Amino acid sequence: MPLIIAQETIERVCDLRRQIHRFPELGFDVHRTAALVESELSALGIEYRRVTPTGVVGVVRGARGGPVVGLRADMDALPIPEQSGEPFSSEHANAMHACGHDAHAAMLLGAARTLQQNRKELSGTVVCIFQPAEEGPDPGGALPMIEAGVMDDPKIAAMAMLHVDTRLETGTIGITPGPVSAAADEFYISVHGRGGHGAYPHTANDAIPAAAAMVLGLQNIAARETDPLASVVVTVGTIAGGYRNNVISDKVEMSGTFRAHDPAVRGQLGQRARRVIEGIAAAYNVQATLRVVSGYPAVVNDDKLAADFAAYMATRENTRVERAAPTMGAEDFAYFAQLVPSVLVRLGIRNEGKGITAPGHSAQFRLDEDALPVGVRTLVAFANVVTSGAIRLGAERHAAGD
Ligand SMILES: [Zn+2]
Ligand SMILES: [Zn+2]
Repeated sequence: MPLIIAQETIERVCDLRRQIHRFPELGFDVHRTAALVESELSALGIEYRRVTPTGVVGVVRGARGGPVVGLRADMDALPIPEQSGEPFSSEHANAMHACGHDAHAAMLLGAARTLQQNRKELSGTVVCIFQPAEEGPDPGGALPMIEAGVMDDPKIAAMAMLHVDTRLETGTIGITPGPVSAAADEFYISVHGRGGHGAYPHTANDAIPAAAAMVLGLQNIAARETDPLASVVVTVGTIAGGYRNNVISDKVEMSGTFRAHDPAVRGQLGQRARRVIEGIAAAYNVQATLRVVSGYPAVVNDDKLAADFAAYMATRENTRVERAAPTMGAEDFAYFAQLVPSVLVRLGIRNEGKGITAPGHSAQFRLDEDALPVGVRTLVAFANVVTSGAIRLGAERHAAGD
C-alpha cells in the first residue's frame, strides 16, 4: 500500500518552505536557515550536529539495526531580485530561492518527521544532510561536509536527493539511470598583443581579432572533435577588452564553461582548448594563456538502484515515473554519488493551470506546492526500501550471488 504522509506533516512542510523562501541566504552564509533546520530537528527529538559551519546533519535511528541511508537537501538561494509575485516573496533585496532549495530543505524535514514518527518500524538509520552552497562559491557545500566526515559516522551505504524540475508535471518524478547532470569546469583566457593607434594596425598586434578567432575556434571542439552522441558544451560567457574606438587593444580577457557527461570527454576539453588557443595566438602573432578550474563532476545515478527504485515508485507507490532526460546543469551531489550508490530524483513542479512554468534560476520562478507531499513520500520510500533490504545494493547483491 502506498505510504501516507500525515496532513499535519504536509502543512508543516509547506509552512517551513515559505519561511525559508522569505529569508533566502547565499552560499555558505545560510545561518538563519541552518538554525531553522536545527530547531525543527530538535523539536522532533532527532539528534543533530553541525558538520562545517553551516552544514547540518540529523540522524534518525530505527528501532532495529540495518543499512544506513543518506538523504541530502541543499539550503542556499541565488543572487536574483525576486519577481515571482508570491505573497511569501523574498524579504532580502538581492536574494531569491529560484532553484527550489527552500522546498528541498523543507521536504527533507518532512521526511525526517515521518521517519522519526515511524522509527519503531524502521530497520536501519537515516542520515539527513542539509548542505549550504550548492550554487557555489567553490568548492561548493558538499565537498567540505564529506571531508569533515559526514559519510562516515554512521557509515552511509546509499544516498538520494530531490531536485525540483519545471519540465515535469506535479505528481510526476523523474528517475534516470546513468549520468543525469554534467561536469562543469570554468576556463579563463588572457590574450596579450601590443597596443597602438587604430589608424596604424601594422604597428601593433591586435588582441581583439585573435580573441574573436578563439571564440569561433573553440566551438570546433564541440562541433568537430567530439562524438556527436556524447554531450559537450563549450560556452564563452564573458569577453572584455579595448579602451576606445581608435585604440588597438593590447589585451582581451575571456571566461567560459565546459560541460560534459563522460569523464573521458571532460578530460580532453582542457588540452583541446589549449591547442586551439595557442595555435590561434601563434597565427595572429599574440600571446595567450588558458587556465582551467575544475568544478563539480557529473552526477551519475547508480544504474541498478535507479532502475529498482523507479520500478518500486511506479508499482508500489502508484507514482508517475518518467525517465527525465539528463541535463548539462551541474550539481555537487556528484561528490556523494562518487562514494556510494546514489539516485538524484527529479520532482515535477510544473502546473500550467496555475501558471507555474517559469524555469529555475529565473526571477519569475515558482513551484507548485502540491508537489511537496510527493517529494516527502519519495524520500521516505527511498529510506524505507534501502533500510528494509527491499532494494539491495550492489555489494550485497554480489555477496548474495545474484
Ligand atoms: Zn540552481
Ligand atoms: Zn538547485
